[in-house]
Amino acid sequence: MITHEEGFSLWTPKDDPGYLDLPYAVVAHEMAHQWTVPYAHVEGAPVLSESLAWYYGMKVVEHARGREHLERLLSFMRQPHPYPPIRRGEPLLRGLDPYMSYRRGPFALFALSEYMGEERVNTALRRLVEKHGSGEPPLATTLDLYRELQAVTPDSFRPLLHDLFEVNTFWALEAEQVTAEQTQTGAWQVTLNVRARKVVVDEAGVETEVPMAEQVQVGVFGPTKEGQEELSEPLSVQMHRIRSGEQTITVTVPRKPHLAGIDPYHLLDWEEHDDDDNIAGVEIER
Ligand SMILES: [Zn+2]
Repeated sequence: MITHEEGFSLWTPKDDPGYLDLPYAVVAHEMAHQWTVPYAHVEGAPVLSESLAWYYGMKVVEHARGREHLERLLSFMRQPHPYPPIRRGEPLLRGLDPYMSYRRGPFALFALSEYMGEERVNTALRRLVEKHGSGEPPLATTLDLYRELQAVTPDSFRPLLHDLFEVNTFWALEAEQVTAEQTQTGAWQVTLNVRARKVVVDEAGVETEVPMAEQVQVGVFGPTKEGQEELSEPLSVQMHRIRSGEQTITVTVPRKPHLAGIDPYHLLDWEEHDDDDNIAGVEIER
């Protein structure tokens, strides 16, 4: 039974009835609990239940309503209300509070599916249901989920999997300045000055900066459609090896760029709210 009362069904993030169908997303999440597994009442239990159901909910929205609608849902879920971000705390595998289970967990699974492919993540989740769906003891824990994710993760993404689930990792990614110049062939060469930082926060709230040397999406975009805030179809989205600190990236695109940035979809640096510093306007140089 799914209760559909006046809370979430009247909760619209914008005064625009067509902007985001939040009731659809919440009901998709509730339905998705049919595909979560009976879990042991130990650390990580809410993550195993709620994060998986939200990951499925996001995917239902994406497949049924399209990518743009998903972007709006994700943007809504990045807001600090109703779950204000907590920096200290246990890693996701031991997560207990709503911020971990309703926010960090779904975003971690979504980032994995974008970086290594939805099919891999879905295979892991299917195997989890096959092995633990019956409810026969021993009941599942996040370690069972993690084992299945490890089994489908290529070596190149093992560090990302670790950073998302085993420690409390925060990426701060910023496009400081972007310029573009038209080449003789008519293409555009885009130069991005970006800054990157990664910290791990332990259970006492102590932040430790850790060096980055990982693949991060870098995207270049055309003009945003009128009346919309979502990014347009990308002119280019590529993985680039990013290290800590400032660095310059050059990308060539076929058409005139308007916006560009690092981690443009907030897969890693997802705790971004009103001022989106991952993306910057492109300055055209002549
Ligand atoms: Zn739920």
